[in-house]
Amino acid sequence: MPLIWDMEIDFLIIGQGLAGSALAYRLEQSGQRIMLLDQSEANQSSRVAAGLFNPVTGRKMVKSWIAERLFPEIEPFYEELEKLTGRQFLTQKKIYRPFISVEEQNEWMGHSSDASIGMFIEKIFTESQYPQMRDPFGGVLLKMSGWLNINELLDGMAKHFGEKLKQEDFDENLLEKVPAGWKYKAISTKNLIFCNGLGALKSRFFNYLPFAPVKGEILEVEQDFDPDFIANRGVFRVQLGRGIFRVGSTYTWHDLDLGPTESAKEEILGKLQDLVKVPVQTVLSHKTGIRPATKDRKPFLGKHPIEDSVYIFNGFGAKGVSLIPYFSKMMVQYLIKSQPISADVDIARYFKYI
Ligand SMILES: Cc1cc2nc3c(=O)[nH]c(=O)nc-3n(C[C@H](O)[C@H](O)[C@H](O)COP(=O)(O)OP(=O)(O)OC[C@H]3O[C@@H](n4cnc5c(N)ncnc54)[C@H](O)[C@@H]3O)c2cc1C
Repeated sequence: MPLIWDMEIDFLIIGQGLAGSALAYRLEQSGQRIMLLDQSEANQSSRVAAGLFNPVTGRKMVKSWIAERLFPEIEPFYEELEKLTGRQFLTQKKIYRPFISVEEQNEWMGHSSDASIGMFIEKIFTESQYPQMRDPFGGVLLKMSGWLNINELLDGMAKHFGEKLKQEDFDENLLEKVPAGWKYKAISTKNLIFCNGLGALKSRFFNYLPFAPVKGEILEVEQDFDPDFIANRGVFRVQLGRGIFRVGSTYTWHDLDLGPTESAKEEILGKLQDLVKVPVQTVLSHKTGIRPATKDRKPFLGKHPIEDSVYIFNGFGAKGVSLIPYFSKMMVQYLIKSQPISADVDIARYFKYI
C-alpha cells in the first residue's frame, strides 16, 4: 500500500494517447511529478491511426498549416522517445503523389521555386515512373515525411511510465476540490490536464468546446508492389511489411458509430486501385476510430476559463503526429514557465461562448 505522500503529484493527466504520452514525458523532463489515467475500451484515436506525417496535404495539396515550424520538431522528438523506450517506431519515408493533369504538373513546377513549399520537395517527375501506378503525368516526391508506429510508441511509453500510469476509467464525479488543488481517490494533485481525446465531450470542464469528431476507417491489405515510398492520392498506402500495406482513411462526420462499414471498405479499395493498379490480394484487417477534430481545425490548448489548475491539451484531429511534438513543447513552457500559448490554439478563443 503506497504511503499517501507517494501520491502527491503536480499533474494528473487524463488519457495516455499520443497527446497524454508526449505531454507527460515533457513534464517529467521538467522535473514535475506526474500520473496518468487511461481507460482501454473507449475510442482511442491514436491506436487506430496510420501515423502519417505529410507536410503537403489536402485535396489541393497545399503546405500544411505552419509546417515549417512543426516539421523540424518531429524527428528529434520521436527519436528521443525511441532512445528512451529502446523501441523503433519512427519511419522516415518519402511520399510519391502522382499528378492528375498537365496543369497540376505545371503548378508544382511553380511551387518548387517557392521556398516555403520547396523545402519539402525532393523531386518533380514530368513522366510516368511506375507502370504499376496511375501516374501518366509523373508526380511529386515529397520529403520530411514518413509514418509513426503509434501503438509501439504508446506501449513503450506505458512501460516507461510504469506505476505512474493506471489503466482505469477517470470518473469526474469522484473529483474533489481541495485547497492545494484536487483530490481524486488516493491521489492529491495540484493540477489536472485533460488529454482524453473525445472523452472531453463528457467532461463538465470542457464539454463546451466545439469539437467536430470525424470517423475514419482504415484497411490493411496485401498487394504485390513494394516501392520505397508512401503512395498518396485519394488514399495513402504505407508499407508495414513485405507486400503488406496500411491504406486509408475515410472521413465521415455523420456516422460516428465505431463499427466498420462495407461502403468505406469499397471506397478505400476503389481509391487504392486508382492509385496503384496492381490487384489487392487480401484485405487483412479493417479498423475504425474517431478523430478528436475541432470546428476550426486548430488544437485546444490552455487553462479552463474559471478553474485555475485545470487544463486541456487536445483537439489534434487528423494530424496528431505532426502537431504534438511542437505543441507539447509550447504547452509545457506555458505550464512551467508561464510563457504564452499562441492565440490561434489557445482555448481562450472560445471563452465568449460560455
Ligand atoms: C482512422 C484514423 C486515421 C488516422 N491517421 C492519422 C495519420 O495518418 N496521421 C496523424 O497524425 N493522425 C492520424 N489520425 C489522428 C490521430 O489518431 C490523432 O490526431 C491523435 O492520435 C490524437 O491523440 P490523443 O491522445 O489526443 O487522443 P486519443 O488517442 O483518442 O487518446 C485519448 C485517450 O484518453 C483516454 N480516455 C478518454 N476518456 C477517459 C477517461 N474518462 N478515463 C481514462 N481515460 C480516458 C482514451 O482511452 C484514450 O486512450 C488518425 C485517426 C484515425 C481515427
